[in-house]
Amino acid sequence: MTEHEHEHVRVAVIGSGFGGLGAAVRLRREGVTDFVVLERADSVGGTWRDNSYPGCACDVPSHLYSFSFAPHPDWPRTFSGQEHIRAYLEHVTDVFGLRPHLRFNSEVKLMTWDAEKLRWDIETSSGFLTADLVVSATGPLSDPRIPDIAGIDTFPGKIFHSARWDHDYDLRGKRVAMIGTGASAIQIVPAIQPEVARLTLFQRTPPWVMPRVDRAITGAERWLHRRLPVTARARRGLLWGIRELQVQAFTKRPEELGLVERLAKRNIARAIKDPATRARLTPDYRIGCKRILLSNAYYPALAQPNVDLVTGGLSEIRGSTLVAADGSEAEVDAIVFGTGFHVTDMPIAERVVGADGRTLAETWKGGMRSLRGATVAGFPNWMTIIGPNTGLGNSSMILMIESQLNYLADYVRQLDVLGGRVALEARPDAVTAWSDGVQQRMKRTVWNTGGCDSWYLDANGVNTTVWPGTTTEFRKATRRVDLAEYEVLRAPAEKPAHQGRTKKKAGAGA
Ligand code: NAP
Repeated sequence: MTEHEHEHVRVAVIGSGFGGLGAAVRLRREGVTDFVVLERADSVGGTWRDNSYPGCACDVPSHLYSFSFAPHPDWPRTFSGQEHIRAYLEHVTDVFGLRPHLRFNSEVKLMTWDAEKLRWDIETSSGFLTADLVVSATGPLSDPRIPDIAGIDTFPGKIFHSARWDHDYDLRGKRVAMIGTGASAIQIVPAIQPEVARLTLFQRTPPWVMPRVDRAITGAERWLHRRLPVTARARRGLLWGIRELQVQAFTKRPEELGLVERLAKRNIARAIKDPATRARLTPDYRIGCKRILLSNAYYPALAQPNVDLVTGGLSEIRGSTLVAADGSEAEVDAIVFGTGFHVTDMPIAERVVGADGRTLAETWKGGMRSLRGATVAGFPNWMTIIGPNTGLGNSSMILMIESQLNYLADYVRQLDVLGGRVALEARPDAVTAWSDGVQQRMKRTVWNTGGCDSWYLDANGVNTTVWPGTTTEFRKATRRVDLAEYEVLRAPAEKPAHQGRTKKKAGAGA
């Protein structure tokens, strides 16, 4: 395609989950309307579109797990189900007029930085475009991970991942294996147990599961939230404040979490009467090291006569026989993998080619590193939402996303102030200072000291996913873009005649 044939936009947002839709709203609020949202599927919703497994719900209360700028007084339950959250995102899309910006069935295949023109060349499954700025909101929970199990090809039955549920396959009366005991699996198990003939649960590491205080939000409460929006705000504030106060125990004083372990053990004991089974279900690591799960139905389902608990990971498949690490075997008709996602090795990183011709995956080979969870040295005008170390162990990710949207808004403002064809590139020393600071704080946290392995840690055992502080601290750290942390790049034609390089340091007359 020639220069004049393809579309050029100011901003290309990738993904239409909470992060991408939030970015779209924020851009419009900043007066930026020249942007597109590229979405590989045919509807919005991200992980809340893809995860439609039986029992799927959020374990963060809905009044907190929603945008502050789009309150929803009519949440039906304290913890809403997937269908309500998905409907909320469709509603946000309509109310904020985002439809004209959406490009469905547009999977990003490759994006390459053009250092001469200071823009991103973007190849998608629906065509080519260029953009001044890329906001990558692909999310950490978007690409399912199915472990490389020996003999998986020999299995004659049905296989699917929790995030790719096959609703056409009828599980009723089938012998089903559930692999994994993470947040997804513990919701699936009680939802399918009454229907299946036999359920074999392959537990590699037991999770800590706390009771779930879930109830319908009454008509009176909803009426009050509609009539007096301040009451919905107060409810959100309370939910936020409680979690904010808990953070210190996770980040600085994990020993305090021992009290919570006692409550979780009581949750097991309430449903599981056999001491040997109780022991198999009781974790040997500090609570909070892996995500704390919430369920009142999980342990009671495990106590049912059609459920077998196998306490060894799935290690081999021989035809329809599944072999666990402890040598036990199970004959099944279907396998459901609740084995999580590519978080620290996100596939989109292989499709981003930066200023020096290296992919983001190559740059992050030794571990994901960023500036303030958003930008990466060598990748000018490229920003990620829910980037490295922006995850939370105990609160709502929407709070972190909104902080990143503040950063995005100021980034766009800074580009405007600088004027002309301009790009910002995170300085390597700023990235190092930020990442080292985060890792220094990480040392005391329960995620690093709790004695478990989790998806928070990358292949080198480094925690590159969780934010080791309060959401307030992150909000402060992302309020403004500090130009001293960036190099200002100018297109060659705009450089002063004496300047040989395309890079020019911030503060040096930029
Ligand atoms: P996950 O937390 O990564 O859990 C994966 C599970 O698969 C773990 O139990 C893991 O065991 C197990 N596993 C991996 N390979 C195995 C093998 N060969 N044999 C047996 N087990 C194996 O994935 P997820 O449950 O999909 O959850 C991912 C994240 O999504 C959550 O942490 C949460 O942030 C989010 N989520 C939230 C909700 C909610 O809001 N309620 C619901 C679902 C998901 P090990 O523990 O031994 O590694």
